[in-house]
Amino acid sequence: LEVIASVEPRIAEATKQELADQRASLKLIASENYASPATLMTMGTWFSDKYAEGTVGHRFYAGCQNVDTVESIAAEHARELFGAEYAYVQPHSGIDANLTAYWAILAHRVEGPWLEKMAVKNMNELSEADWETLRAELGNQRLLGMSLDAGGHLTHGFRPNISGKMFHQNQYGTDPETGLLDYDALRAKAKEFQPLIIVAGYSAYPRRVNFAKMREIADEVGATLMVDMAHFAGLVAGKVFQGEENPVPYAHVVTSTSHKSLRGPRGGFILATEEYAPSVDRGCPMVLGGPLSHVMAAKAVAFAEAKQESFQTYAQQVADNAKSLAEGFLKRGAKLVTGGTDNHLVLLDVTSFGLTGRQAESALLDSGVVTNRNSVPADPNGAWYTSGIRLGTPALTTRGFGADEFDRVAELIVDVLSKTTPGTTKAGGPSKASYAIADGVADNTKAAAAEL
Ligand code: PLP
Repeated sequence: LEVIASVEPRIAEATKQELADQRASLKLIASENYASPATLMTMGTWFSDKYAEGTVGHRFYAGCQNVDTVESIAAEHARELFGAEYAYVQPHSGIDANLTAYWAILAHRVEGPWLEKMAVKNMNELSEADWETLRAELGNQRLLGMSLDAGGHLTHGFRPNISGKMFHQNQYGTDPETGLLDYDALRAKAKEFQPLIIVAGYSAYPRRVNFAKMREIADEVGATLMVDMAHFAGLVAGKVFQGEENPVPYAHVVTSTSHKSLRGPRGGFILATEEYAPSVDRGCPMVLGGPLSHVMAAKAVAFAEAKQESFQTYAQQVADNAKSLAEGFLKRGAKLVTGGTDNHLVLLDVTSFGLTGRQAESALLDSGVVTNRNSVPADPNGAWYTSGIRLGTPALTTRGFGADEFDRVAELIVDVLSKTTPGTTKAGGPSKASYAIADGVADNTKAAAAEL
């Protein structure tokens, strides 16, 4: 920090403050974690300075021998960790991984057959008219993903996202009664919509998914099954999700982030079958530019950590802790979407406290509990104010929290929310944003959180 301070002291100060804030609060954001010192330190090296567009052994720049070593090791660890045929570790983030995977699938399913039909080996041989037809073919494709309010991600075909613009999109939701995925309804929708790609995976669905069933449905309609395991990659790596709950043996393409439950550096990666590997391997130049070599190195370190037996213990504890948190809420009368959890996250419906998600999120933040507001299925308050709070256990489990600590976390949260009241707008109506916490509650909660 002294080195940074000698150049820009405000950045050194903000960095110090970030550490202090993260230490003083309860980090319950389901997509966050604490990477190990080895992973963090690997990101701050000279690999940051190196350009290496292309792929291992086939670069558009000279002098990439050490990047080749790093990328090969990271990909090897990823293949071994997840039992995948092929791994691509260049995507800078989860969104990059998804965009790369979409184009790779389009290249494999649409562009390849089109080139064959036109009897040409590569795009340069296409006439302008052929190009027009190919563009139309690509733009005609259909994507079926999980809706945002059921727990899907923006990149799964949400209209304002590029995935909702580059495809004709349709979305599947959850059963309105149970909040659970309804595979029969999904099958019926897939049969009617005939998608090229079915996306499985989620950001805010507190249950496990049966990927064998997902693959069955994809096969029935001739779709490629892409699974975005960004949130639960740590539970797959840690062998908590096995058999039909492990997407790798069932999906054609799996995308992920490395920084959530997997506890690595901020980044993305893709796993694929041999069949899809050549298309994914063209991520650069198809979608990506120069890879972040320092982050690929840190991915290798984090994957190596996740191969250790201690990571399996950690992943199981993440799931056990989520159960304890859910039970802590339920026994205190709170309402959970789907009535519980069997992964790393809990979705608390805060309407029974008379609050919006925005008010609950703010009141908890004032009390040293960091969460994020989240839509619940068919949310009456929309995506901005929302009616839910999403809570995840990966970060605090890294800090060593067990079931008892998570029961206490539930107690603290219920206490804050039941002592928070919604405010009023200037016109005197009910506000969806302002709120008041009973005197002393925020400070007492902060003190209790610091003791944990
Ligand atoms: N996919 C899922 C399921 C996610 O939850 C997220 C992030 O929240 C992403 C992709 C995007 O990851 P990133 O923020 O690294 O782009």
